[in-house]
Amino acid sequence: MRLFRLSYIRVLFLLMIGLWICNSGNAHPATLSRDSLIDVLHYQFWISLKDSSAEIQAEARIRFIVRKPIQACPLDFDIASTTDATGMHVDEVRYQQETLSYTTSPAQIELHFPRLLSPGDTAEVTIRYHGRPADGLIIGKNMFGEHTYFGDNWPARAHDWLPVHDHPSDKATVDFFVEAPCHDQVIANGRLMERTNLRNGYMLTHWRESVPIPTKVMVIGVAPFAVQYLQPVNSVPIESWVYPENKSQGFLDFSVAPAIVKYFDSLLGPFPYEKLANVQSTTRYGGMENASCIFYDERLISGKQQITLTLAHEIGHQWFGDCVTETDWPHIWLSEAFATFMSEAFAEHAFGKDSLLHILAHDRKLILHYDSLHQTPVINYHARNPEQLLNPDSYQKGAYVLQMLKNMIGDSLFWKGMRTYVQHYRNQNASTEDFIHIMEQVSHRSLEVFFRQWLYRAVNPVLSWYWKYDTIQKTLMLHITQLQPGEAFELPVEIQAWDQKGDSHLFSIHLHQKQQDFTMPCKFLPRRVSLDPTGKILMEQFEQTPADKHKQ
Ligand SMILES: [Zn+2]
Repeated sequence: MRLFRLSYIRVLFLLMIGLWICNSGNAHPATLSRDSLIDVLHYQFWISLKDSSAEIQAEARIRFIVRKPIQACPLDFDIASTTDATGMHVDEVRYQQETLSYTTSPAQIELHFPRLLSPGDTAEVTIRYHGRPADGLIIGKNMFGEHTYFGDNWPARAHDWLPVHDHPSDKATVDFFVEAPCHDQVIANGRLMERTNLRNGYMLTHWRESVPIPTKVMVIGVAPFAVQYLQPVNSVPIESWVYPENKSQGFLDFSVAPAIVKYFDSLLGPFPYEKLANVQSTTRYGGMENASCIFYDERLISGKQQITLTLAHEIGHQWFGDCVTETDWPHIWLSEAFATFMSEAFAEHAFGKDSLLHILAHDRKLILHYDSLHQTPVINYHARNPEQLLNPDSYQKGAYVLQMLKNMIGDSLFWKGMRTYVQHYRNQNASTEDFIHIMEQVSHRSLEVFFRQWLYRAVNPVLSWYWKYDTIQKTLMLHITQLQPGEAFELPVEIQAWDQKGDSHLFSIHLHQKQQDFTMPCKFLPRRVSLDPTGKILMEQFEQTPADKHKQ
């Protein structure tokens, strides 16, 4: 998802929110890892929405395969207590045409089967329920006062309105059958299968997602919409769903989507889903990458095409996060950093190299400032909940690491690696180690040091350096010290030296020790010397100016 562009103040605000969530008695469980008893294959949800009511009537059919011998199986589900105004009430559970017994706790329903189920068995259960969702399905009024319903499941809020295995490692196909008032339209994941006027003021809409997706991006959106059908890209329909009140602005803002999909198709391989809808919504995030129906904060629509890079980020997620999903939350950079990187790739493609350099300069400051306050690595196993991982390490630093990897192995091998990774883990889950392994195979080199220092260390390089010129030997000498705590970083660094006329010469050096001296032949006395002039390396640097800089 996208949290608008992170400012320092917003970072601090997010951390406060993170702490609040940690400390709140109503916090969602920090399911940072899960030992699965089952693997859900398919969900079929029937959702009935009554006009102007906050209550839903629903039925869920869940087909799953058994992973470990079980007689009881828990599913995540927000169960209402007798005193709660919100939460779900279970009406009936059925299995093989029989009523099935179950027990409930505040965040789970446990199904009790009449016999032991063995690994490899498949089973289907039906749960009929009703209630007012406390979260997950946001029911309320949009900015124009219209009654709307929008799923907003990240990270594990699907179980506030759907009985599910609410973890990114369990991907499943899904059908949504939604009965909603005729004046609304319904968007959801996948392909539109049916729209029938029920002649009682309600419309039945059926969407089917035939590609397995995680529950965090499994949603419906119900509102009065204006819908525009754009030019398909490689036969994939592309649609804009916006509120009728700001139709022209919304259609204009979303009209860039085909160009983004076309560019990403060329880099990564085919778009993973049956269609792409960009949807104006009441999501709490700037953008939320729901598979094949991305939701954007309603207030972002301006008609000035100011959200093009937000679109690029969310569309990038369709490959990274949705199609190839992180195995667990500590690997969230495989989702957020990759989407951030794809938006940077589109910025360079559409607006030029300077646009990318501008973004990277901004991000470098943001990351270094954040990391000066928080000593956490990109792969952070100690976060107490997924929300804590929504920080510049997971977004901007991870994307910077991908930029450095691309610089190191070259564009051609880098994109070959990205395509291979998507192809290999298409519609499955992947870990950071899986990505590293693919990149090593494609580039035929060990990347162990590179990824260890950038993803698993909490510090960034800090360089102190000075240069001298030997007029007799005609050599440029550099002395570089790595000041950061711990071992030295291995860094390929460019040195640029300018002569008196303003022409420059580029040198390449390789840092691997805490203190190093370099001597390079240089025919002119430099007017100026710059270390890493285009900011390719994520680091802080200080140029010293010793009195003996010019040895005569
Ligand atoms: Zn994102």
